[in-house]
Amino acid sequence: MLDAHPGTLYIIPTPIGNLGDLTSRSLETLKRVDRVAAEDTRTARKLFAHFGIDTPLVSFHEYSTTGRVTSLVQQLKSGLSLGLVSEAGTPGISDPGFALIRAAIDAGIPLVSLPGPCAAITALAASGLPMNEYYFVGFLPARKTARDRRLADLARVPATMILYESPRRLTSTLAAVAKILGNRQICIARELTKIHEEYIRGPVEEVIAREGDRRWRGEITLLIAGWSKSDQREAVAGAEELEQRLWELKQSGETSTRNLVEVLQAEFPGWRKKDVYRLVLETIK
Ligand code: SAM
Repeated sequence: MLDAHPGTLYIIPTPIGNLGDLTSRSLETLKRVDRVAAEDTRTARKLFAHFGIDTPLVSFHEYSTTGRVTSLVQQLKSGLSLGLVSEAGTPGISDPGFALIRAAIDAGIPLVSLPGPCAAITALAASGLPMNEYYFVGFLPARKTARDRRLADLARVPATMILYESPRRLTSTLAAVAKILGNRQICIARELTKIHEEYIRGPVEEVIAREGDRRWRGEITLLIAGWSKSDQREAVAGAEELEQRLWELKQSGETSTRNLVEVLQAEFPGWRKKDVYRLVLETIK
């Protein structure tokens, strides 16, 4: 392989567990670039020690200032070649990198994106869920109300959804998925490429029943089947529940159509606004 091209930014994926997954091209590039910008220089140093790489490291993380981005772009402009790595997987995918990549593009700097490990794609490939169309969600908000709102926003996404999730939050997230999105097919992909690699597949309610009291550990990617017509049928089957709630709201003195629709929409996110609206109008007549 030739030397790395001067003034070029290389996006270099690193293993998500198994060190054997660093491609030979990524290894060569890491050795040949002038510098490597790393999310976590300590993790990068371990990787470098394992592969005998002695390229100088500079730190680049989520909280890097625009000053740091500008300085790296200046170095690229002056002819330095730079590798970008995150803690694991593909830089920029729920990881730092975007600011530098965007600034490099804006400055007309050539970019080379090397293919390699990414938990999202690795999990999707074995999930058993449709792969023709997928939607990368990344991490849900940590706070429950914001998380539930985000899940409700995703209710009509027709593609397989890919989420990164913390093991501490998984049990609660699964319950929220069942409640807000319905009994969808899911796949929990855990500890991919590592010793305890595991895939748990099935309808979310069945998975909860089977694994309910489990204390989750390790790294987790969660996949959820996209919206389909049968979810709509489930929502329609919930009409009685919705009508009951509407009756309760009216009993408590709420009469404004707008308020009723707003409250019901928030409580029944699987329902389309126009269907809720129609139901409210029908009961007012
Ligand atoms: N950029 C990385 C990539 O391309 O895979 C993802 C970085 S994100 C900060 C880390 C999250 O990815 C973890 O919290 C977990 O949800 C998921 N993840 C990373 N490694 C994983 C693995 N070995 N198995 C399952 N999920 C993993």
